[in-house]
Amino acid sequence: VANHFGKLNQNDLNTQVLDDSSPREVYSLYQRLLTSKQELISHQLALEETVALRTLELENANQKLQELVDKDPLTDLFNRRYAEQKFQEIRDFCLRSEQAITIAILDLDFFKSINDSYGHLAGDECLRQVSALLLQHFKRDTDILARYGGEEFILILPMTNALNIEHHLNEFRTILASTKIDSPDSKQQFNLTASIGAITANANYHAQLDKWIKIADDNLYQAKAQGRNRVNVSIINPQSEP
Ligand code: GH3
Ligand code: MG
Ligand code: MG
Repeated sequence: VANHFGKLNQNDLNTQVLDDSSPREVYSLYQRLLTSKQELISHQLALEETVALRTLELENANQKLQELVDKDPLTDLFNRRYAEQKFQEIRDFCLRSEQAITIAILDLDFFKSINDSYGHLAGDECLRQVSALLLQHFKRDTDILARYGGEEFILILPMTNALNIEHHLNEFRTILASTKIDSPDSKQQFNLTASIGAITANANYHAQLDKWIKIADDNLYQAKAQGRNRVNVSIINPQSEP
């Protein structure tokens, strides 16, 4: 009986080794051992289930924590820290395949007067709606859309085609300008525009994101000076080309 229980596993529990024709004491010992073994196995299964459940809960909690670290709570876009960190990874990937990257900085026009006219909550609603529109318009898995500061956004767009990036950015600018924003009390509707400065260059242009942002920022500054609701892009050709 001892040898038999040593070898017994979950699937063998229904195989009868002794039956009630065996001596009564041996048979009753066998029955009790069988019951204990069954209890032990069901306890073990319940334990495995609890561990699996706790592991899943822990994974979900970790994922939520990571989102808190990487995301901007108001807009649910990525935050500046994440964008800066991700740039290196994207650049390494594009370097290997000699792809171009576009860095665009988008700044809402006269945003202070929107806050002043419609209230800070309406301002927040603008930021959320602009973010939702950005997500709809730049929808490649590899695009990184982040809130860079108050009413500024940074777009890191790998593998961009220099021929149509300006068109794509302008398309977004036009869509935004024609989108009516509702104030939170829904009593007022208003329009909102943005100015965009960008740089498109081969990934080997520079290792520091700051260098890319400097050019995008200069273009943004010019877009503002030229009257706002504009897109300015610098396309940097590889130095190796004439
Ligand atoms: P410009 O066209 O030159 O960009 O003008 P602007 O008014 O947009 O620029 P300015 O830098 O003077 O104002 C930015 C405003 O953005 C001021 C600030 O109160 C507002 N802002 C920044 N962060 C938030 C936010 O999280 N929510 C709201 N509602 N407003 C914000
Ligand atoms: Mg600004
Ligand atoms: Mg602004």
